Amino acid sequence: MNSKVSVDTVFVGRIITLDRLHPSAEALLVRDGRIAAVGDEASVVARAGADAVRVDLGSRVLLPGFIEAHGHPTDSALVLSRYMIDIRPVTIETAAGVMDAIRAGVAARPDGAYFNGWDALLQKGLGEPTIQQLDRIAPNTPVVIAHNSGHVAYFNTAAARAAGIDKHSQDPVGSQWMKDDAGELTGKGFEIGTLFTLLRPMLATAQAELPSLLADYLAGLNAVGITTVSDMSWDHAKTPLLNAMRERGITTRMRLYEMSAPGSNASVDLDNGDDLIKQVGVKTWADGSPWVGNILLSFPYLDTPATRSVGIPAGSTGSANYSREQLDGIVDQYFPHGWQLACHAHGDRAIDMVLDCWEAMLERSPRPDHRLRLEHVGTMTPEQFQRAARLGVTASFLIDHVYYWGDTLVDDLFGVERGAAWANTRAAIDAGMRISLHNDGTVTPAEPLRNLAVAITRTSRTGRVLNPDEAITLDEALRAQTLDAAWQLQADDIVGSLEVGKYADLVVLSADPYSVDPAELPGLSVEATYLAGEQVYERQATEG
Ligand SMILES: [Zn+2]
Repeated sequence: MNSKVSVDTVFVGRIITLDRLHPSAEALLVRDGRIAAVGDEASVVARAGADAVRVDLGSRVLLPGFIEAHGHPTDSALVLSRYMIDIRPVTIETAAGVMDAIRAGVAARPDGAYFNGWDALLQKGLGEPTIQQLDRIAPNTPVVIAHNSGHVAYFNTAAARAAGIDKHSQDPVGSQWMKDDAGELTGKGFEIGTLFTLLRPMLATAQAELPSLLADYLAGLNAVGITTVSDMSWDHAKTPLLNAMRERGITTRMRLYEMSAPGSNASVDLDNGDDLIKQVGVKTWADGSPWVGNILLSFPYLDTPATRSVGIPAGSTGSANYSREQLDGIVDQYFPHGWQLACHAHGDRAIDMVLDCWEAMLERSPRPDHRLRLEHVGTMTPEQFQRAARLGVTASFLIDHVYYWGDTLVDDLFGVERGAAWANTRAAIDAGMRISLHNDGTVTPAEPLRNLAVAITRTSRTGRVLNPDEAITLDEALRAQTLDAAWQLQADDIVGSLEVGKYADLVVLSADPYSVDPAELPGLSVEATYLAGEQVYERQATEG
C-alpha cells in the first residue's frame, strides 16, 4: 500500500451502514482514509472534491469490512504455509487419505514432517496414533501432528528428541504431556503449550520467512472481506514480526490478545500500538476441545464408537486446564492493570467456573465497560448467558462448528438435546449480549459469509438443521460480523460501521445479502476490499 494522500472517492449505490440510526445510504465519501460523508447521493456528491473518483456500485453492495473477532493470524500464517502439511478435514475427508499424506510427507521431508488438521471425528476411522505407530512410520524423522482443534499434539520419538523433551520434562503451563503406566511418553500432548514446544525446531527454520507468510495470510483474509482480525494466541516474542509488517505495509488491522502465563504481567503497556496494530487483551484457556474430550461438562459424553475411537472414556465429563484458584491468580495479574480478558470455555462447568471467577474479580476490581469475553461457548446455557450478560460479559461464537461438526455433535458426542443446542446465539442476544461470530484461525476456513448463513439457518454440511429456535436474523448476524465484533475488540470507535469519522474499511459484495436466501449467502462473492480507503483486494474475473 502506498500512503500518499489520495483524491476523494465516492461510492454510489446500495450501502448497508450498520449504523442503527441510518442503516442504509445512497452514497459514501472517502477522504484521507476516513469516511467523510455518508447519506443521500446529492448531499454526499456535493461534498466531494471536483476530481473525486466515482464508484458506481450497480448491483453490488457496500458494507463495513468484516471483522474476525477470534483469529490466530500469526500462527495460521505458519500452519497454512509450506512448512506444515495440511491434513485438515476441510482438505482431506478420509482416514486413508490422511495416512497417505502422512507417509508421503515423511518420505518427502526426512529432516522433519509437521502436519496440521487431524480430526478422527470427521476423518472417521483415524482413531489416535500412538508413539509406537508413528515411530514405525518414521523411525528417524521427527513427526508432529497437530489436532485440527489445536488442543492436542501427537508426536514420535524423533520429534521429542528434536524438541528436547523426554519423560522427565515438565508440563508446559496449562498443558500436559501424557504418560503410560510405566511413565513413558505416549506421543500425545494436551493443549498448545505442548504443540508449540514440539514445533520449535520448525519455527527456527521458518523464522526469516514469517513476514511474507503473514502478508499472504492477511491477503487471504482480505479476499473474504476481512479488514480487522484478532490474534488470540499472541506471544510478545513475535514483536519483530509485526515490526517487519509495519515496514512492508499491513493490509488487515490486528488486535492482539497475549497468552496468559501464571506469575507474569503483560509484556507491553496498556497504552500501546496504534489504529493498525494494538494489543488490547489477554487470553486464557479454561478448558479444551469438544473433539478430544477435554471440555469441562455437567453431563457426560455419549458412549459411542466415535467417542471411544478418539479416546474419550465412557461417562467422561471432561476436564479443565486450570483450577479455580489458578484462574483467580491469573486474572489478578492482568485485570486490575486495565486489560480486557478473553477466556476460552466450551463446557458448561468451565463456563460456571469462569463466571464465578470473574464475578469475584469484578467485586475486587470494579470496572465499567470491561467487555470480558467468553470464547466459543459451545454448551453455554440460556441461564448462563443471562448471568453473563448481567455481569457485562460478552461471547464470541465459532458458529461453523454447527456446519462442519453438527452431525457429529448430535450423533457421536452429545445426543439431540445437548448436541443440537450447540452455540446458542439466540439465547445470547436475547440475554442482551453483543456477540460476534468467528472462524478461529485454521480451525475452520475464514468465511464470514458462511458464518452469517450458519447463524441464520443452523444447518450442517449434510443439511441437518440443529435446533432452529436458536437461529438469529440477518440483521443480528451482520452486526456480529462487523460492529459488535469491533466492539469486542475495542475498535468500534474507529471501525465496524460506516459512519463519518471512522476508517473507510469496506467490503463490496456481488449482491445484496438481504435479497438472497440465507442459505445462498456463502455463494455471494467479495468483489473488493478496502483498508482505510486503500484497495487491498479486487476479485479477478477468473476467480469463481
Ligand atoms: Zn482460538
